[in-house]
Amino acid sequence: MSEAIAFLEPRDAVLSRRREIIEDLSELVPAGRLVHEPTALVPFETDGFIAYRRRPLAVVLPETTEQVAAVMKYCHRYGIPVIPRGAGTSLSGGAIPQEDAVVLGLSAMTRILDIDYANRCAVVQAGVTNLAISEAVGADGYFYAPDPSSQLACTIGGNIAMNSGGAHCLKYGVTTNNLLGVKLVLVDGTIIDLGGKHLDATGYDLLGLVCGSEGQLGIVTEATVRLLAKPEGARPVLFGFDSAEAAGSCVADVIGAGIVPVAIEFMDKPAIEICEAFAKAGYPLDVEALLIVEVEGSEAEMEAMLASIVEIAKRHNVKTVRESQSPTEAALIWKGRKSAFGATGRIADYICMDGTVPLSQLAYVLKKTSEIIDRYGLRVANVFHAGDGNMHPLILYNINDPEDAAKAEAAGMEILKLCVDAGGCLTGEHGVGIEKRDLMRHQFSDVDLDQQMAVRSAFDADWILNPSKVFPLEGRS
Ligand SMILES: Cc1cc2nc3c(=O)[nH]c(=O)nc-3n(C[C@H](O)[C@H](O)[C@H](O)COP(=O)(O)OP(=O)(O)OC[C@H]3O[C@@H](n4cnc5c(N)ncnc54)[C@H](O)[C@@H]3O)c2cc1C
Repeated sequence: MSEAIAFLEPRDAVLSRRREIIEDLSELVPAGRLVHEPTALVPFETDGFIAYRRRPLAVVLPETTEQVAAVMKYCHRYGIPVIPRGAGTSLSGGAIPQEDAVVLGLSAMTRILDIDYANRCAVVQAGVTNLAISEAVGADGYFYAPDPSSQLACTIGGNIAMNSGGAHCLKYGVTTNNLLGVKLVLVDGTIIDLGGKHLDATGYDLLGLVCGSEGQLGIVTEATVRLLAKPEGARPVLFGFDSAEAAGSCVADVIGAGIVPVAIEFMDKPAIEICEAFAKAGYPLDVEALLIVEVEGSEAEMEAMLASIVEIAKRHNVKTVRESQSPTEAALIWKGRKSAFGATGRIADYICMDGTVPLSQLAYVLKKTSEIIDRYGLRVANVFHAGDGNMHPLILYNINDPEDAAKAEAAGMEILKLCVDAGGCLTGEHGVGIEKRDLMRHQFSDVDLDQQMAVRSAFDADWILNPSKVFPLEGRS
């Protein structure tokens, strides 16, 4: 376990009242919805950023917005930090608690409240998983577009807090582009509604502000999300290249030509080998880099788009072009990509970095990334949403070796700085959390950060909502 990232000192005034707080909380949620025994708290100590863990004071798992509001009102009154949590799949430590905090888990709020095809939207509770929405409407020919690789587990509340993306977001946009409204519980327990079943709203775009606010402005208890009609057809195609640089340049040229496939995913050789060994997806093993390009529409539209993409790929000396010939083959191609993180976890511990660069810089940043990794004597597998410029170097290391862990973290921070210096940013879709908190000063000036913190303070003057996250601990206003 690593200790390079600092946490806030727990508040004695809260720790000393632990027993009393637990008794009070037990009256605010139904029986069985309060967790406080030390062993039962273990699963809530960390999230997908497993290098860090802290045991929370207690965990509450409310079933209704009113119960969430009651818990917030109580914690606000006594200055108790609250860590909102969905499924705990955050890769930046966004849901990691601290010793004096109550974890407010939304995982028991799993009801789909309304499916409204006339208005092309669904109203769901915050703990509904991302995939459950598409499953609920799939038979009627609809789907919910943002598709994180964790979609089987992650919740819509977590997606909203992180403004999550996924493979198909190149065409359809990320969470913020597919969100119409939320029910939000403010820090003092006030319940408000933002947006609704319509596009746009009058006044400040508070919905846009809440999406991506990492559980610091309020607790999302319900969401109204857009439903889209499924396309007539979709076809993923594999493109193999002799170098990562050629694949990166090809992506930039496809987008530069004004072509918008539904997805462009990148894998380098280590990632191809890892995923193929796990999923047996039929990936070519004689190439250095692979692109999965998915097109969709009618047969004629797909043919025309593919012809243009193949033409561009040829200019980059593409070695393999393999169209999926059946729905089974298409599903296998995606299975390989979607299981990349799990498949990598079979062979080593890893930190998944997440930075975004302008597409024209992809090839350069990939080359510099491998130089950084070599300098630290580590290994990396690159698998990411290339069409969005959203890079995910998976840095392999041994979590039980503190020196190795420190090297992996240092290399990761250099890579994120590289993304910023190349004109990109230090978050893609995984948020800042605790992981990238101290790099915020590399991306933003003090003036920029002060403005962001002023907004945060306007919602939560005492900073009790997810307090260790997003902003550097020093110089907070
Ligand atoms: C294998 C794997 C693959 C992944 N692939 C992707 C991917 O392709 N794209 C992507 O974007 N992410 C991906 N992620 C990261 C993660 O799944 C997303 O960030 C996801 O949105 C987190 O959802 P969650 O329900 O697990 O939230 P948690 O991890 O529980 O929490 C995440 C953040 O949201 C806050 N939060 C949670 N629920 C609420 C709520 N109801 N109200 C207010 N704040 C809340 C928490 O405080 C925390 O800051 C992946 C993770 C894993 C483990």
